[in-house]
Amino acid sequence: MLRVGINGYGTIGKRVADAVRAQPDMEVVGVAKTRPNFEAERAVAKDYPLYAAIEDRVELFDDAGIELAGMVEELVEESDVIVDACPSGVGEQNSELYAEHDTPALYQGGESAEFVDTSFNARSNFADAVDADHVRVVSCNTTGLSRLIAPLGEEYGVEKVRATLVRRGGDPAQSSRGPINDILPDPVTLPSHHGPDVQTIFPDLAIDTLGLKVPATLMHMHSVNVTLEAEPDAAAVRDLLADESRLFVIPERFDIDGAGALKEYAQDAGRPRGDIWENCVWGESVTTEGSDLYLFQAIHQESDVVPENVDAIRAVANAADAAESVATTDDALGMGI
Ligand code: NAD
Repeated sequence: MLRVGINGYGTIGKRVADAVRAQPDMEVVGVAKTRPNFEAERAVAKDYPLYAAIEDRVELFDDAGIELAGMVEELVEESDVIVDACPSGVGEQNSELYAEHDTPALYQGGESAEFVDTSFNARSNFADAVDADHVRVVSCNTTGLSRLIAPLGEEYGVEKVRATLVRRGGDPAQSSRGPINDILPDPVTLPSHHGPDVQTIFPDLAIDTLGLKVPATLMHMHSVNVTLEAEPDAAAVRDLLADESRLFVIPERFDIDGAGALKEYAQDAGRPRGDIWENCVWGESVTTEGSDLYLFQAIHQESDVVPENVDAIRAVANAADAAESVATTDDALGMGI
């Protein structure tokens, strides 16, 4: 069993912990938190050993009557792999701690790509992370684009990607974020930084991205144009995408008209927290005009990176190859809705 520790138990960390626990070849050693909030309460209720991330805050846990298993240093020492899911920038600061204990570490998409050995997407570059010490699982948007580009590139060749990312203003619990009633070009300069982030996975890819932020919390929406090196018909592209386990091609008969209905569907399907780990591509939107492909896809920002973290754990531990790992992860989570 691979022993996995999770440092930073927020939106991403708590989902990764549950996904790791669901795997047949992994166990959660514990999770580290900075304060005894509701998420700490739930971690204890789920029997995750809780470690304090900051020495000065131990008293707060004592006052709240929450028993600690130890300090984060002990968690790092006891783990075969650590998943850092701290806020952007904190992961890089933590990287020294992981290096001191010789514990391979995964970081999230908010971290810089500069200090890690490789950025990671299971479908696209699993092998680059094998035996690596510091691996960054790319952001929700970059994960969503990479999963789409990989099969298109293999099947047809990709000349150029142009994508407009209509991004949610914040996650549902992030009440301080916005906009509340506006539509923001964000960043206003073009192209946006998202394209270069995709190039951390596909270094030679020609890609331009534009970003906006809107008053929504449920999902991101991508409007994608890929110029291919072939001229397939739309049905062939739809079949290609539908064959990918982490791409959900929404059938027309489902009558799903947006992110709200998608989330409702995920909840009806019994998904934990209403999570949607797959890219959601509208089948009717898949259109070709010569070598140009167009489509819309929705990305559940809080959860699409979760199966990727699980695969990255196996990669750094050299515990499986890409196909084995993805199949195991998908099966354990119940991928496919
Ligand atoms: P979050 O704020 O929900 O969770 C971060 C957690 O880390 C919080 O519980 C916080 O208290 C804790 N924390 C803060 N400092 C810490 C420290 N020094 N040690 C241990 N824990 C500490 O953030 P999140 O949304 O889960 O984001 C985490 C990372 O994942 C970021 O890099 C982010 O860019 C990336 N990410 C977020 C999303 C998303 O939509 N939320 C999607 C993909 C990637």
